[in-house]
Amino acid sequence: MDYKSADTIQDLQYFGEFGGVNPSISDSSTYTFLSAKTMFDTFEGNTEGCYLYSRHSSPSNLYLGEALAALEGTESANVYASGMGAISAVIMQLCDTSEHIVSSRTIYGGTYAFMKNFLKKFDISTSFVDITNLNAVTQSITPKTKMIYCEAVSNPLLEVADIKALSKLAKKYNIPLVVDNTFSPLSISAAQLGANIVVHSLTKFINGASDCVAGAVCASTEFCLQLKDVNDGAGMLFGSTLDSLRAASILKNMRTLHIRMKKHSENALFLAQQFENDGLRVVYPGLASHSGHKTFTVQMNSEYGYGGLMTLDVGSLAMANAFMELMQRENLGYLAVSLGFYKTLFSAPGSSTSSEIPQDDQDAMGLTDGLIRFSIGLDNDIQKTYIAMKKCMLKLGILKEEGALV
Ligand SMILES: *Cc1c(COP(=O)(O)O)cnc(C)c1O
Repeated sequence: MDYKSADTIQDLQYFGEFGGVNPSISDSSTYTFLSAKTMFDTFEGNTEGCYLYSRHSSPSNLYLGEALAALEGTESANVYASGMGAISAVIMQLCDTSEHIVSSRTIYGGTYAFMKNFLKKFDISTSFVDITNLNAVTQSITPKTKMIYCEAVSNPLLEVADIKALSKLAKKYNIPLVVDNTFSPLSISAAQLGANIVVHSLTKFINGASDCVAGAVCASTEFCLQLKDVNDGAGMLFGSTLDSLRAASILKNMRTLHIRMKKHSENALFLAQQFENDGLRVVYPGLASHSGHKTFTVQMNSEYGYGGLMTLDVGSLAMANAFMELMQRENLGYLAVSLGFYKTLFSAPGSSTSSEIPQDDQDAMGLTDGLIRFSIGLDNDIQKTYIAMKKCMLKLGILKEEGALV
């Protein structure tokens, strides 16, 4: 279902101070005041339109924040020096000592490690649950629960969260629903579906150039200001501030996000369908065989497709490694973590991006050794890519001549 045209980024209009078609970059850490009184008021947080110090805010970061708020349809957005900078700030802002989080068990390894290990320092505990099981989510909520956390499309297993149902549940218990929408920008408008706070790693699709790390929190103006509060704002005080030059660069890349997402999705769907026909163990939310296919379909802004992420299980870590090395030699992509690049990126999450998750927990969530995560690139001729990938699989015996799985 289309809730609205998801891409309102194009509707924004800003000029540079000399009439440039791009806003000017703010190249200053600190700002002058014409009167001492205004400086005092700005410190107190009650002067609109005045800049104080760039860890607090800067024009370039505000411009990028505006575009991200437009992307998610939220009132406001703050930008950070990384996705983890954004996620950790949100969690620390919402949770006090000895409180509790209910989180999906299939989440980004860094977020998992932050909740499971780092938050011990504050006696904050997390119940990791199967987020597609609403009963399990409900049963885990306690009077100390301060947030429900999930990824719209999970890393690396591509489970799809029912954001509407989760938001109803969160509302019933009067706790915020926090959704990491890094895997599905534009395809899923998490805030429109009821998420109270949407976080992004801009490092991935949104910037799309694999040349920086950055993050964002899209939320109400009230919450965004809380994060920036000079006295107790986690964003302000942890200080994971995005540099203005980089914010300006991300804003420029973001303008082609809609075109890129369509192409990533188109290419990934094509490969997933072919691999499925070949009898391979492929997981892609765009396939009817995917457990979250229906949930994704009713939530999505259909023109952007099911995203660029796909997994393939080739049976063993040794085979996964051999296949990835061969694909890289054949220039079909890079053996690298991360996602959202013009080139296809592949990695074995069990031994890389999800290695923070203990083996037992990996087994419980179905994260197998032979699993390869693909972030499908912007290949102009995806048919050619498919044929070349298939050649690699035949060479390694992942596929037999007739296409049967070995
Ligand atoms: C990469 C990633 C993060 C962390 O973002 P960084 O920019 O690397 O800090 C968080 N969530 C998801 C889903 C990610 O893929």
